[in-house]
Amino acid sequence: MTRPAFPETLPLGEPHEVAEGLWWARLALPFQLNHVNIYLLREDHGWTAIDTGVNNLESRENWQKIFAFIGGKSALKRLIVTHHHVDHVGLAGWLASETGCTVLMSAGEEKTARHALQRDQPDRVARMSAHLRWLGCDDEEIAALTTGLFRATNYMGPLPEGIGGIAPGDTLRIGNRLWHVLPGKGHSVAPVMLHCPDESLLIAGDQILSSISPFIGTFGDAPLASPLRDYLAFLDGIEKTLPADTLVLGGHGRPFDSALQRIASLKTHHAERCDKIVEACRARPLTVRAMMVHIFTRKLDGVMTMALAEVLSHVNLLVDEGRLVAGGSQEVRTLSAP
Ligand SMILES: [Zn+2]
Repeated sequence: MTRPAFPETLPLGEPHEVAEGLWWARLALPFQLNHVNIYLLREDHGWTAIDTGVNNLESRENWQKIFAFIGGKSALKRLIVTHHHVDHVGLAGWLASETGCTVLMSAGEEKTARHALQRDQPDRVARMSAHLRWLGCDDEEIAALTTGLFRATNYMGPLPEGIGGIAPGDTLRIGNRLWHVLPGKGHSVAPVMLHCPDESLLIAGDQILSSISPFIGTFGDAPLASPLRDYLAFLDGIEKTLPADTLVLGGHGRPFDSALQRIASLKTHHAERCDKIVEACRARPLTVRAMMVHIFTRKLDGVMTMALAEVLSHVNLLVDEGRLVAGGSQEVRTLSAP
């Protein structure tokens, strides 16, 4: 199937048609990653939207343009949220109350989103400090990384009551297309993707992206977990089932139709990172923090917490596989390569 070329970027809030009745739009994000994609699907009597952007003034302004495009607020009948991260769910409550649309989300993602809105326990800094020490950060860095902690409530409004469930295995009719709900894994707890096999379209959330590698990280709440194992299993599975001509519509970046190549390069990326980590730990035991200089050549200002979480998910996989051995103490973990 030949497809038209897609623009590298889009003006915010100005939808671009990627397949008949299926529109790609971009909303501003106040992060290093400066945009999120949403998708709009035309139906006989209204529209379904996928994902929302964060809860801030600029996103709401972007949405005003989108409302004008779809023929007014009341034309939005349904919202499907791929996963609970603030850039995808932040405006779900606002959209539901502005438009009266129904909201669909997987049970696991809804639960995690509601949890994120309540999470600020008073011992959060102490728990995070202990985790960062275990990773090998020094006092000065711990102080810096636990100042001004990310709060989901800064970017996510209250969620609507009565969110409808959506689960892998479901089939949704949206306009004149049938979409199969497929499970994601690794980037989030229970993300969903929408696949239209008739036209080889995949609305992928953040599971497969055109240029950045989806964030797969391990944090202090489950420090020995390896979501990377789940993510690699996801890539293996989707690689076997996805037709080569699939058009991937991801949560960031641009649409692309080289899904299988992209999956292969994501697998290579993670394999190379694993090899680098093992190599670094061969000469002497290293903490996760001490590995960073061997893995990243770029500066990690402002993204250190996320980068540590990414490396930790690789490290935990390598420990599970026996390629690294964990040592050190309860307070500070070191890793060595046998
Ligand atoms: Zn995202």
